[in-house]
Amino acid sequence: MTTAVTTRGGKTYHDDLAIVREELDKCMKCGNCMAVCPVYGADRVETSVTRSKIAVAEAVLDGNLDLDDPQVVAMLFNCLVCKSCMTSCPTKVNFDRIMLALRAALVRKNGMPWLKRLIFSTLKHPKLFDASMRVGAALQGVAFKTGKEGRMISPRAPFAKLGSPIGLDGDRQMPPLHVVPLRERVDEVIKVEGATMRVAFFTGDSLNYFYPQTGQDLIEVLAENKIEVHIPKAQNCCGVPVLVHGDIDTVRQLARSNIDTFEATGCAYLITGCGSCGGAWQHDYPELLAADPVYGPKAVYWAERTYDISTFLTRVVTLRQPKGRIERTVTYHDSCHLKKSMKVAAEPREILRSIPGLTFKEMAAPDACCGSGGSYVLSHYETASTIGRKKAEDIDRTQADTVSTGCPACMMQLLDNVHRAGGGQKVTHFISLLAESYRLEKKGD
Ligand code: SF4
Ligand code: SF4
Repeated sequence: MTTAVTTRGGKTYHDDLAIVREELDKCMKCGNCMAVCPVYGADRVETSVTRSKIAVAEAVLDGNLDLDDPQVVAMLFNCLVCKSCMTSCPTKVNFDRIMLALRAALVRKNGMPWLKRLIFSTLKHPKLFDASMRVGAALQGVAFKTGKEGRMISPRAPFAKLGSPIGLDGDRQMPPLHVVPLRERVDEVIKVEGATMRVAFFTGDSLNYFYPQTGQDLIEVLAENKIEVHIPKAQNCCGVPVLVHGDIDTVRQLARSNIDTFEATGCAYLITGCGSCGGAWQHDYPELLAADPVYGPKAVYWAERTYDISTFLTRVVTLRQPKGRIERTVTYHDSCHLKKSMKVAAEPREILRSIPGLTFKEMAAPDACCGSGGSYVLSHYETASTIGRKKAEDIDRTQADTVSTGCPACMMQLLDNVHRAGGGQKVTHFISLLAESYRLEKKGD
């Protein structure tokens, strides 16, 4: 499942930019990546395209460009690390490795900007991070007002003006932070009568703090399928937000800590409901820890036992067919990390199609990036919105009343963009529709 990663002298490409030379050499500058790069599609600037970034990496390695030249830095961060370019590359350039190696090299050279360092350092201390998220949740009403269905609608007037450069303007819709996160709402072990197996659920921070109901839906679905669920409270952030900013020490620390935590559950499978978290366990951890004699093999062990909830329900166990009718027209957006990293695309659609009453409609280019890219949507709001607008138009053309996906970060970006486009579609995780069908069945509907 994982791709072999080169190690040299106890280092991986995260520690030594020269290790990605073999990836750079694979690029023949054909430009196939232009057609699929969402950033190039939005700004039509050659420096946004994969091959230009590869040329820059070559120039840096050859000593012809400074990595910390402001134009080089701007190019490096004008990328969603969405892997779209890798799907159309004839020579199979692992561009994500090149981008991550460049950003890590930049941090080694110049250190981390103070604000990022401050934010990322809290991730190393789960209790401190949890406390700061809860304080943020308790105080968010000062700057944000609550809209329909409990969503936060836009910053209040004085904050909207300040926040508009990063998209936090008066029209922004975002999910609220929850004062009681998912892992506080549920027991650490959910026992199920007649359980046939035990799995461990890696919630990730987005489900934990922004979408706890989605996490509860996932647990409920597993229980409906006679599966005991372990939700370790000690689990940390998956580390992807710090990995893409080049903070390799922090992401390695998070990876080792998460491995220890899940090893202690004694479960045979690890389940995720987020493409980025699942991609971290399946690919990033084995690559980051490839030169670690203790945690390297453990990372590979867990990579082979990590499943997105949809794959687990349809490929590992036999999904209990839902019977509750949901009379809705639903389309599906492929999250980049879920499809391009975890290779999950057919399974969520199978689940949606299994729900009685639900009409499934495919949108054009369902696997085109939505423009989220984690923090990219904040640092490059205009480009992210141009990409998101196109996605909202594709959703609207299906005439679906609901857009589903398998990634909480995509849910946030879709929520903002369908709202701004005026489509009014409900945005949900596909697992919530399955949970709803099971619940309706119990009620006898
Ligand atoms: S498609 Fe691949 S080989 Fe062609 S320019 Fe892009 S990265 Fe290079
Ligand atoms: S990872 Fe995505 S945004 Fe970055 S160059 Fe490739 S296609 Fe473009």
